[in-house]
Amino acid sequence: MTTALTELADGAYAYTQEPGGWCVSNAGVLCGRDGPILIDTAATISRAHALRDAVESLGKGTVRYVVNTHHHGDHIFGNCAFSPPATVIAHDAAPAEIQKAGLGLQSLWPDVQWGEVSLVEPHVTFSDQLDLELVSGTVQLLFVGPAHTTNDVVAWLPEPRVLFAGDVAMSGVTPFVLMGSVAGSLRALARLRGLGARTVVCGHGKVSGPEVLDDNEEYLRWLLDVARFGVERGWTPLETAHRADLGAFAKLLDPERIVGNLHRAHAELTAPGSQLGAELPVRTAFEEMVDFNGGLPRCDA
Ligand SMILES: [Zn+2]
Repeated sequence: MTTALTELADGAYAYTQEPGGWCVSNAGVLCGRDGPILIDTAATISRAHALRDAVESLGKGTVRYVVNTHHHGDHIFGNCAFSPPATVIAHDAAPAEIQKAGLGLQSLWPDVQWGEVSLVEPHVTFSDQLDLELVSGTVQLLFVGPAHTTNDVVAWLPEPRVLFAGDVAMSGVTPFVLMGSVAGSLRALARLRGLGARTVVCGHGKVSGPEVLDDNEEYLRWLLDVARFGVERGWTPLETAHRADLGAFAKLLDPERIVGNLHRAHAELTAPGSQLGAELPVRTAFEEMVDFNGGLPRCDA
C-alpha cells in the first residue's frame, strides 16, 4: 500500500492510495479561495486522519469544503474527520442514498478497523453543476450520473485540464456499476472524454491520462457483449459470469465485480427503457461475488 500526495498543477493535488482495490480510495486537494477543498475523505478514521495530516502539511489551513463524488462509504466515511468545520457538498441524490446505506459497508468487511465513523451528510447539494473559486481558476463540479451510482459528481479544472473522476473511472481496477448504470456509465465516459483532460485522477488506482476513460469504456462494452450472450441463453448473472472469459481484464483488481456488473447489465438488457440506476438487490449480488471469488474479496482498507 502506497499513499502519496502529488502536485498535478498549481494548487491541485492527488492523494492516492495504491493499488486501490475495495474501499481503498483516492482523494483530491485543491487550493480554494476560501481554504482547501477536499474531494472525498477515505473509508476509515485512521485513513481520514492520515489524509488530514497530508492536507495540513501543505500549510494552506483547515479544509473549508469537502466534495463527495458519490455516496459510497469509502468516499464519505471520513467526512467526520473534516466536518465540522468543513461544509460538505454532493449531488442532490446523495443524502438519501447515504441515509439508506448507513454504515452497511462495514458489515461486508467486519475485520477492517473502520474506527468510530459518524455519518456526516452533505450540507449543500446541487443538481447539475456547482463552481467553486480557486486561488487560481475555478473548479467545476459536474453531475454525470447515473454511472457508478445514481449521484456521481466529477471535479473538473478546465485550465490545467485536470479531472477528478470519482468512481466513474477506475485505474487498474475493475469498473463497478452494480449500483449505477452501464448505459449511463458509457454516456458519462463519452462526456468526460469531451472535456479534454490531460490528467485523470480516478476514484481508485494510480493517476493516469485520458486513455483510462477508453480502458473503462472497453470493459463496459465487453461486459455488454458478455451479458447479451448470457441473456440470450436464459442464464442468471452468476451463470453468465462463470462462463465469461475475462481475458486481459482478469489482471484488473477485484475481477469478481463481473458478477455485480452483470446483474446491472442483465437488468438493463431485459428491461430496456427502465430508469437508469434503479435499485437492484445489492446484498444478493455481493454474496454472489463472494461465491464467485471463492471467499470474501480482499479489502485492505
Ligand atoms: Zn464507489
